[in-house]
Amino acid sequence: KKMRLFIPGPTPVPPQVAEAMARPLIGHRTQEFADLYRRLEEKLRKVFGTQNEVYVLTCSGTGGMEAAVANVVNPGDRVLALVTGKFGERFAELAKIYGAAVDALEFGWGNPVDVALVEARLKSQKYKAVLATHNETSTTVVNDIRAIGELTRRYGALLLVDAVSSLGGIEIEADAWGVDILVTASQKALMVPPGLAMVSVSPRAWEAINEGRAPRYYLSLPAAKKSLTKFNTPYTPAVSLFAGLDVALDMILDEGLENVYARHRIFAQATRAAVRALGLKLLAPDACASPVVTGVWAPEGMNADDLRRLLLKEYGVLLAGGQAQLKGRIFRISHMGYIDAVDLLGALGVLEIGLQKFGYPVTLGAGVAAAQAVLAGGG
Ligand code: PMP
Repeated sequence: KKMRLFIPGPTPVPPQVAEAMARPLIGHRTQEFADLYRRLEEKLRKVFGTQNEVYVLTCSGTGGMEAAVANVVNPGDRVLALVTGKFGERFAELAKIYGAAVDALEFGWGNPVDVALVEARLKSQKYKAVLATHNETSTTVVNDIRAIGELTRRYGALLLVDAVSSLGGIEIEADAWGVDILVTASQKALMVPPGLAMVSVSPRAWEAINEGRAPRYYLSLPAAKKSLTKFNTPYTPAVSLFAGLDVALDMILDEGLENVYARHRIFAQATRAAVRALGLKLLAPDACASPVVTGVWAPEGMNADDLRRLLLKEYGVLLAGGQAQLKGRIFRISHMGYIDAVDLLGALGVLEIGLQKFGYPVTLGAGVAAAQAVLAGGG
């Protein structure tokens, strides 16, 4: 059976990326690797929207988040964490573990960051850093990083952003929006298997990093920076993933960032139209809905995980479930990265069959037709 991933990471890997990763390995202390890292880093700057350096770390996205925190936060520092779901909670937890005095502003699962509340906090209290999630994967909500960046600049706090599930799928401009540390990972919109985190660092963040007192070794950004002067890494990098990322970034830049972002937005609209046509409820309101992953409430009385198990067993279609408090209550359809219209219409088509098998009244084809109308440009 074909396995089809509609989860928000790992996402499907394009054959040309897989081919690049299957090539004979190169040594990581060679000119060939340095050339690869140089090319990669230049391309990453374009996707990050930055003139600053971008470091590629061999670890998952959480490692990148830990690098951001461990290098910037000293014990006792005041940090404001903007929490809109599981990954916002994780960022806050990391800062606590590194000894920060963390104020967590909770907006509830399913709501975006309320920028006015952030401003009120920044006015009342001096913070060293603000932690924000761009695309909150657990709730399928996107936060307004641009607006948050205006505030952090005005009030003199650093802005650390988790863009793990957005970069390469949703517009983000590190420099123009005032993001001091931007973190992403390989296995989501960037279409590469898990194992790489990428981190950009602003000059303002470097001032804080150079005064950093928290322990840091494997995730030391000064070490990554020093090695990058020779397009090298401090420790053995995941060479094959670098090779895959090189090709994936070419695909993204050849398509054009604007086109890539538009494609993701349209797929989200198509998915949302399908969900509505089936009479199901969307998790996120339109105004803050994620372009890369769509959350759907399971119909009354249906366990979303039973539905997911059936779709996997019968059709090889893997949807994501709900996390923590949303477990069993929602399912999520990811449309980030290497997913095309045929994939999406297929997933929606078998979703209708699955819903019907569990007794939910479905007019077969109604969701697919609504999605087709959007994809055809009519809806
Ligand atoms: N942040 C966000 C927004 C994510 O979606 C994820 C992964 N689902 C992570 C952080 C953690 O990344 P990883 O699993 O690669 O450590």
